[in-house]
Amino acid sequence: MSDPSKSADALSAIFERLIATHGPITLTHYMGESNTRYYGDRDPLGEGGDFITAPEISQMFGELIGLWLADIWIRAGREEPIHFVELGPGRGTLARDALRAAKRYGLEPKVHFVESSTALKDIQLATVPQAQWHHDLSTVSLYGPLLIVANEFLDALPIRQLVMTEAGWRERLVGCRDSQFIPLAGDKPMDAAVPEAMREAQVGTILETCPGAAATAYEIAGRLVDQGGAALLIDYGHDEAHTGSTLQAVRSHRRVDPFAMPGEADLTAHVDFSALVPIAESRGCRWLGTVNQGRWLRELGIETRAESLSAFAPEHAKAIQAAKDRLIGEGQMGALFKVMGLAAPHWPEGVGF
Ligand code: SAH
Repeated sequence: MSDPSKSADALSAIFERLIATHGPITLTHYMGESNTRYYGDRDPLGEGGDFITAPEISQMFGELIGLWLADIWIRAGREEPIHFVELGPGRGTLARDALRAAKRYGLEPKVHFVESSTALKDIQLATVPQAQWHHDLSTVSLYGPLLIVANEFLDALPIRQLVMTEAGWRERLVGCRDSQFIPLAGDKPMDAAVPEAMREAQVGTILETCPGAAATAYEIAGRLVDQGGAALLIDYGHDEAHTGSTLQAVRSHRRVDPFAMPGEADLTAHVDFSALVPIAESRGCRWLGTVNQGRWLRELGIETRAESLSAFAPEHAKAIQAAKDRLIGEGQMGALFKVMGLAAPHWPEGVGF
């Protein structure tokens, strides 16, 4: 098999030429191009791929999301038309499981997928044929409430980093030395971009922001306020401000150097949920809360669901319990992953927050 990282159009070769000609590039540019290339033409999900996500671990994840959406929609008055919108739906597994569960309660929404990968779109088409595809939220219907879900979407959007140096704050850039990419500090003073309280931070302190996540939260919040509806943003991250780099790369289920193989590994960063709350609230949107995934799934009844699935298929009971533990276990996905809920001001509270 040919090694794509050695091909003539390998992204590393393109970056190397670009840096040699124009100087270091921003981390945002590096991560954005890398992930566009990475997701563009492959299915990275599952045991045989690079990483596994909650909906691929168990059908219970998508089903409980479907029940959460049906519950809030029913309590809001069963308004129609109603739209299910998923950002970065992967293989379409979450949507398929959620829509099946929601249908039992009379919720049969129009389905919209925001997806940039042509390879994943082909798989989604087979899983959820009734979906409509979009490049971004702007083309999703303006009429009727939106039920928006994004699982492991925001973490893939490019981040920006500022680093404190002896000379003050600088943007963290990516340079190239002996064909190796390396992070380095730019020349341009960036002190004005840093909050007052952080101006005198220790040398080496890194501040990370994700303009794409901020823009997404802003847009979702505006749509919910205008049209009604609710949103669940699920990702690994933190609900307090932090410093330090959380950029990481994963390939074949292993952590690798994020600067080693641009376009050939999944680049992600932790989502700073605390930064998204004031953005959503600035548009008049309601923040339902941000809680650990483990607690949220337990509140929604994952333990009961696991028992009834096990009773139905005793031969799979062990695997069902193991999947449940993986989703809610403190040392597994339960504490690292957070669920953030948003809703229109006139919509009710959401279960689990
Ligand atoms: N939600 C799925 C997949 C997570 S992987 C799951 O939980 O299994 C990230 C998903 O976001 C992929 O579908 C990827 O193609 C998509 N994606 C990444 N960046 C994107 C962008 N800028 N615009 C649209 N989709 C994007």
